[in-house]
Amino acid sequence: MPYAPAADRYQSMIYNRCGRTGLKLPAISLGLWHNFGEDTPHRVKRAICQKAFDLGITHFDLANNYGPPPGSAEVAFGEILRGDFAGYRDELIISTKAGYEMWDGPYGEWGSRKYVLASLDQSLKRMGLDYVDIFYSHRFDPETPLEETMGALDHAVRSGKALYAGISSYNSQRTREAADILKRLGTPCIIHQPSYSMLNRWVEEDGLLDALDGLGIGSIVFSPLAQGMLTDKYLGGVPEGSRATQGKSLRQSFLDEPTLANIRGLNAIAQKRGQTLAQMALAWVLRGGRVTSALIGASRPEQVEDCVGALKNLEFSEAELGEIDRFARE
Ligand code: NDP
Repeated sequence: MPYAPAADRYQSMIYNRCGRTGLKLPAISLGLWHNFGEDTPHRVKRAICQKAFDLGITHFDLANNYGPPPGSAEVAFGEILRGDFAGYRDELIISTKAGYEMWDGPYGEWGSRKYVLASLDQSLKRMGLDYVDIFYSHRFDPETPLEETMGALDHAVRSGKALYAGISSYNSQRTREAADILKRLGTPCIIHQPSYSMLNRWVEEDGLLDALDGLGIGSIVFSPLAQGMLTDKYLGGVPEGSRATQGKSLRQSFLDEPTLANIRGLNAIAQKRGQTLAQMALAWVLRGGRVTSALIGASRPEQVEDCVGALKNLEFSEAELGEIDRFARE
């Protein structure tokens, strides 16, 4: 049966304005870092993307190096764009990034104009697109003048290969500098993609969220579930096939007894709120409206459905926030 998106897909999702721009993003977006490489069957990737779009998730986040192998997530998403999502390009916000190692030699990573622009061309080819909606500098390069990296983003937008420019994981000082350069070039920085969760609060401590508010830049926060730690999946042990068994970015050593005790405490608070722990973790990053979108990953469509359920309760009492801090302060 060919896929037809749910007719009611725009009924319940919340769309937040991204900084001071005309662009709105879904409060929950889907990232393709894990589970979209050659180690995952294509039918699973399709099912996850279909479920997301059916629930009003219009934003799909990629990077040149997502896989494994690097690049394969963009290839897989390109297939989905030509298949299930054919005819819906104008309903989708697709992002990609350049910054981490992608090919051999001195021009295969970081922030030179040479690398950043070649990488964008490669990404477009892999996905079969003429343009992406958002193109990011994936990380600050301490050895390349920021003017050069931002100049490459500006060129990407001016050449029509990207509609908007963004940066990822830059600290507040570098963000101010980058935003200033881009503003002078006439291509505003519209979005920042940092990590943020109840267990990882550097964006508060560094003043990044305050800086973004002041600059009118939106934020899309990655790993809001701490890669699955802020869900109930590890409470009864480490399930087969979960990210912690894959020996990649989430090591089993992160799940030590003190951490699990804290996660149990958080799970009990979520239950009192009538939410799953994943839902509470997402509501927590979205609380108060400072964050434009929570960027989740998923290995199954049911996880996407559970996550979107977070939007039913985004309010926290002071007492709840205090109780969460007891279990989730670094
Ligand atoms: P999350 O913190 O959302 O972790 C996702 C994982 O949590 C899933 O793979 C799944 O684990 C588990 N999970 C998700 N929903 C549920 C649920 N409802 N119940 C139980 N378990 C659940 O985010 P990611 O770390 O995956 O990052 C999200 C995206 O952020 C990436 O895809 C990427 O687009 C972006 N990112 C950007 C970075 C950057 O440098 N800019 C760096 C890292 C990520 P399992 O697979 O074990 O089932």
